[in-house]
Parts: sequence; C-alpha cells; structure tokens
Amino acid sequence: MAEERLQKVIAHAGVASRRKAEDLITSGHVTVNGALVTELGTKVDDSDKVVVDGAPLIREMKQYFLLYKPRGVITAVSDNKGRKVVNDFFDDIHERLYPVGRLDYDTSGLIIMTNDGDFANMMMHPKFHIDKRYVAKVKGVPKGIELMPLRNGITIDGRKLAKAKAAVISRDKTKQTAIVELTIHQGLNHQVKKMLKAVGFPVLKLSRVGFGFLTLDGLQPGDYRKLSHNEIYQLK
Ligand code: URA
Repeated sequence: MAEERLQKVIAHAGVASRRKAEDLITSGHVTVNGALVTELGTKVDDSDKVVVDGAPLIREMKQYFLLYKPRGVITAVSDNKGRKVVNDFFDDIHERLYPVGRLDYDTSGLIIMTNDGDFANMMMHPKFHIDKRYVAKVKGVPKGIELMPLRNGITIDGRKLAKAKAAVISRDKTKQTAIVELTIHQGLNHQVKKMLKAVGFPVLKLSRVGFGFLTLDGLQPGDYRKLSHNEIYQLK
C-alpha cells in the first residue's frame, strides 16, 4: 500500500469516521510503531503498526475479484427496493467490496469488485484508456460501413466520443438481428446502447466480455474468481 494519512487508515479500518479519527489522533489516543502521534499530517503504510486506545488496528486486506454479472442484477452495494445487487454474490467475503464502474441492470458481463478505492478510481479514469469489449445483439442487420461513424468518433448528447473499434460478428437476415462487437475505453452512462442506437441499430442484448486483458473465460453468469497478483500488477 502506498502511504496514507493516519486518519484515513483509522477510518477505513472501521474504527471511527474520518472526523472522529482526527479527534482520536489529536487527543493522544493513537500510537504508530509504539510512539504517540498527535499530528494529523502523519502518513503510514502497511508496515506501520497503528494502535488505537491500546487495540492494534486490523487493516482490511485488499481484495480484487472478477464477477460475471448476470442480467437482472444492479451494479450497487445495496438496493432499497430489495433487488439483487452485485454484492449479493460475495456473502462469504468479509471485506466490503465496491464495483469498479457500472453495468446496466439488463447488461451481463465482466465487472471487477474490490475494496481498494485507489485502484477503483484508477481503473475508471479515462486517462488509463482501459479497453472494455462489449458484444451486442442489435435490431437490424448493419453493413460494416454503417458502423463507420463509431470508428471515427460519434457525437452523442453534444459530446464527441473517442474512436471505437466496431465490427459485425454475425448477421441473422431472417430475424433481422446481428451480433456486433464494440471496444471503447470511456465509461459514460449507457454508452454502448447510445452509440449503436445513434447509427440506427438499437441494442437488444448486451454483455461486457473484456476489461483490458481480462475475459470471462471459465466463468458462468453469477460466478466470480479472485484476480491473481500478476493480473492486479498488470492492470496497475
Ligand atoms: N454501455 C451500456 O450501454 N450499458 C452498459 O451496461 C455498459 C456500457
């Protein structure tokens, strides 16, 4: 872990709110490696032993999972209408996980879940240009050339989007549907649906099949697996 402010580390461990953690520090309740610390600017990392009121701080292990989100599941930690959420798949995991980015309720596919907030922010930042690969079943049978505006960078809601990779994988002329693959690195709300609708081919079904080099290989909807150290290292 990179160095973090002491009050943030105490708050993240669930001992107190950030504000209360500041009070604990300034009023002399906290030691770091045996020494009393009352300075709010103090930074610590994983190797530092933090003790609050005589009790060693139990730091949350950073956890990283890849979930194959089924359709009909909300990308949220909880839902006040009682609908199934991505966290429901992780009942056995003690750490509080958060989804990295968002998939629509009716979209299935790959989503990373973690309790590492810095990592999540990094993955979602457009500057990191992580490719997200989607497979969509669309209404209509596009010719390759009809997807050209997506490859050139289409304007949606007054915003010019980055160039996307777009290809027709298969066509069903009888049913008047097709399978299209789209790779984007931005993550705007309903982006893929809006892009395909804008070129005249509304999405009937959508799945995210790739996130950077990660794929859904070996997983069924509802399955998850831990990311390996090597995968986490490569993503970072
Ligand atoms: N684009 C969409 O339209 N929906 C998703 O769930 C993800 C990307």
